[in-house]
Amino acid sequence: MKPAVVNAWSRMVLIPAEEGPWNYRWTSTVVLECTCPPMEIRFEKGQTRGPDELPCRPAPNAMSGGVATAETATLEVDGDPGDLREPRDLRRPSPGPEPRPRSIRKGTVQFGNLLPELPFVAARELHTLDLSLVGLRCTMAPETVLVSDGLVHSFKVAPSEERPDAVNVRVFLEHSVSPATREKAGLPHLVILKFSREPVKKVLRGKSVVIDPGHGGRDKGFRGPVNLLEKNVALIVSRNLYSLLRLADARPYLTRRDDVTIEDFDRLRAATSRGADCLIRIHTSGDDDPDRRAYFVRYSPHLESSRALALEIRNALLERMGIDPALVEWDELGRVPVPVVQVEPLCLTHYSDEANFRAPLFQKRLAQSIFNGLMRWYMEKG
Ligand SMILES: [Zn+2]
Repeated sequence: MKPAVVNAWSRMVLIPAEEGPWNYRWTSTVVLECTCPPMEIRFEKGQTRGPDELPCRPAPNAMSGGVATAETATLEVDGDPGDLREPRDLRRPSPGPEPRPRSIRKGTVQFGNLLPELPFVAARELHTLDLSLVGLRCTMAPETVLVSDGLVHSFKVAPSEERPDAVNVRVFLEHSVSPATREKAGLPHLVILKFSREPVKKVLRGKSVVIDPGHGGRDKGFRGPVNLLEKNVALIVSRNLYSLLRLADARPYLTRRDDVTIEDFDRLRAATSRGADCLIRIHTSGDDDPDRRAYFVRYSPHLESSRALALEIRNALLERMGIDPALVEWDELGRVPVPVVQVEPLCLTHYSDEANFRAPLFQKRLAQSIFNGLMRWYMEKG
């Protein structure tokens, strides 16, 4: 067997610590599968690259298909939404040790090992990390792999132009962070780059985000052609977003955790009474004509930062999923002294959109996109 790099992929890993349900080590990894160990791994000094130099294609205006093409395997990062637990700060102290939630034990979520056939944009600076695996050839297609997990933006594996017996790897990162390198013998021989997700936590630690899953109880919202209800979709996406924020040490709060009816007044009051940084309302769009569809990120006109937040979430949806929602100023989101954004990433009354909404992976990606947008909003805000 010739010495070669044959495959590459990325995943987010949770390693539970000894105590506490939210106590864990959280990393992003980039894994290179080789037929034998490299003779040497050489790191170039990390540089910062501007958007012009990124290997990104221009984004078209409409959503393209194929959203679920890239996965090799998916393991739940937060399990069934029923696993959701109250964050520690909202719970009464319990006398005994708390059982660790199933979600954390499950461990990892894996993203694609191929570039999804989706456009993506990166209208900001990313950090790069360059390394060479010496003594190997590149037999995998020299592809850019989009990860977009809030830390690893993407990475590219390609033959070295300088020497034929080396493979270059360039990782684009949202934050400046150095990886720990590990190798695991076997076939394939794995070269693992492990990035601490501490910089993501640093941005979001202690941040108060109120997530409002639309509708609930008697109010079902839109109904899909095969009877998927907006209230249920909104709750699942909201819970996924909640889990991600909780992992990042933020202080998310859900206005409803179950299928219950709540008044708009109470949703808004949750945001104001908790002194939240923002209120994210999760809905779907809908139309009387099942062939028509439009997507929106609506923002309240009452605070300027609402628009900035809406823009970041819209950009993140476009980058991660190829969804290009319209940014709409909307006066009916409620007059509260916090930025309010309503995300309607797909149209539930459209057949194929409803099918997408049913896929757990799709629901997680939606949540990850909104998470990425939020993170960038906080980074811009400083
Ligand atoms: Zn709605």
